[in-house]
Amino acid sequence: EEQKSLNFLEEIVEADLASGKYKSIVTRFPPEPNGYLHIGHASSICLNFGLTQQYGGYTNLRFDDTNPVTEDTEYVESIKQDIQWLGFQWKNEFYASDYFDQLYAFAIKLINEGLAYVDDSTSEEIAAQKGTPTQPGRRNQFAERSVAENLELFEAMRDGKYKDGEKVLRAKIDMASPNMIMRDPILYRIKHAHHHRTGDKWNIYPMYDFAHGQSDSIEHITHSVCTMEFVPHREVYNWLIEKLEIYPSHQYEFARRNLSHTVMSKRKLLQLVNEQYVSGWDDPRMPTISGLRRRGYTPESIRDFTGRIGVGKRDNIVELGLLEFCAREHLNKIALRRMVVFDPLKVMLTNYEGTGELLSSENNPEDANGGSREITFSNELYIEREDFMEDPPKKYFRLAPGKQVRLKSAYIIQCDEVVKDETGNIVQLNCTYFPNSKSGEDTSGLHVKGTLHWVNAKDCIPVQVNEYDRLFTVENPSDEEGAFTDYINKDSLKIVEKAWAEPALKAAVVTDRFQFLRKGYFTLDPDSTATHLIFNRTVTLKDSWAK
Ligand code: ATP
Ligand code: MG
Ligand code: MG
Repeated sequence: EEQKSLNFLEEIVEADLASGKYKSIVTRFPPEPNGYLHIGHASSICLNFGLTQQYGGYTNLRFDDTNPVTEDTEYVESIKQDIQWLGFQWKNEFYASDYFDQLYAFAIKLINEGLAYVDDSTSEEIAAQKGTPTQPGRRNQFAERSVAENLELFEAMRDGKYKDGEKVLRAKIDMASPNMIMRDPILYRIKHAHHHRTGDKWNIYPMYDFAHGQSDSIEHITHSVCTMEFVPHREVYNWLIEKLEIYPSHQYEFARRNLSHTVMSKRKLLQLVNEQYVSGWDDPRMPTISGLRRRGYTPESIRDFTGRIGVGKRDNIVELGLLEFCAREHLNKIALRRMVVFDPLKVMLTNYEGTGELLSSENNPEDANGGSREITFSNELYIEREDFMEDPPKKYFRLAPGKQVRLKSAYIIQCDEVVKDETGNIVQLNCTYFPNSKSGEDTSGLHVKGTLHWVNAKDCIPVQVNEYDRLFTVENPSDEEGAFTDYINKDSLKIVEKAWAEPALKAAVVTDRFQFLRKGYFTLDPDSTATHLIFNRTVTLKDSWAK
């Protein structure tokens, strides 16, 4: 094992443990339940859970559910399923909404100390009064309200006496701060909305800045890891901890990880779902964890991917090719080899007289314990139509008139005759096989360069194959002119309605991973039934997009 260098967060944690600042660490993963998790979230999950796996302590799952309008229980369930599927287990399942009473009490404390006030201004007025980064903002007359008046008004806000937008609660910090977020940030806004957990209890909801750090503190999170856009919020985070005199959690920021040839914002992913560019959040072309799972990605390959891109301070877009590379790396080791013919051409073996012959074929040459399976053989086979050429160029190693190839795990055959229908289409190849050329016991002395996959026409089964490809034709659809949806890859799904598979695939289950020989990596789609098997292509065998 090569020695991996520590990322900057591992360095911080090691130093904090070494100095005795903490005896053990607590991290959290804080998704907002307003969509499904995507591959970017996987970086945050692997980082937060990875730190406590490495250094001890534990990680909480905290739903950051302070915005009732966009949140839903469906998302809560999918998020839990995805984290577990990735291989992680949280210690506690918490909800920011569980802290609403405590947060309300924190707000009262700030008001009592003259550190928060109720403001009647509109959001436009508040924005205008904030000034600019180079010019200080100014306080309005509402900042002069007495503690008693603020307490009364805030209570009335809570009790639903005002309409949405009529009043807000603001922290009284510094209207001249060079950090715009410190210019009396809003702590609470009025929202007469039904919340997925607290129902109609609340008419006011805390803002991110007043919920996140305080939730970290309540849970005694030692290292609160978030993405870079929260750097300017750290000052508010620390100010609130200081003024409220609560547990000093510490915020650290790392760079977002984005992926090429896709979009990652939940708003855009939701749009793809709502406008039916895809079949749902778990469409195999989506960058969601559930989409990648349905596509056939393994948790191991996703964890490997997040490890390879690492943890940094600068935002970047990672090539989708790297994720595909990680999938191939793992699937090559674990995928069961199977034969499926997508576009059949019949082969008749004119000299074959056997019945019920069983051939043995290895399940996975990369896995010494992979075992083998039996495949039936007969005089009637299918090969891939594209594996035959009537008029081949030089160095063509597949089948052609008078030429020989090996059938995988079977015999060498030779094409003697091409049978056509009245319109000239090739409908059958009449071939002979060489009885002493059986794989593993070949004494024929024949040398052939090509090996083809094939199925036995007498017992193969029809299956549907979904050949997925990348969803967008450009690296960063969000950066292009016009709508990001203008750049959807029209060929991102090709359906082979009827491919012919060896019968072993009847036993496939959703967690199986397959390599269809010479075709790519595939997995069973959960919509399959016993009589209609559907296989999704995870990734091709080689990178066909390389420039
Ligand atoms: P979006 O902007 O798409 O709604 P979000 O950041 O609001 O995403 P959250 O549910 O709040 O989504 O994210 C939970 C955690 O995952 C946060 O700590 C967030 O910083 C982190 N995260 C989200 N997207 C990425 C990404 N692309 N790379 C790394 N971490 C991410
Ligand atoms: Mg968001
Ligand atoms: Mg967020």
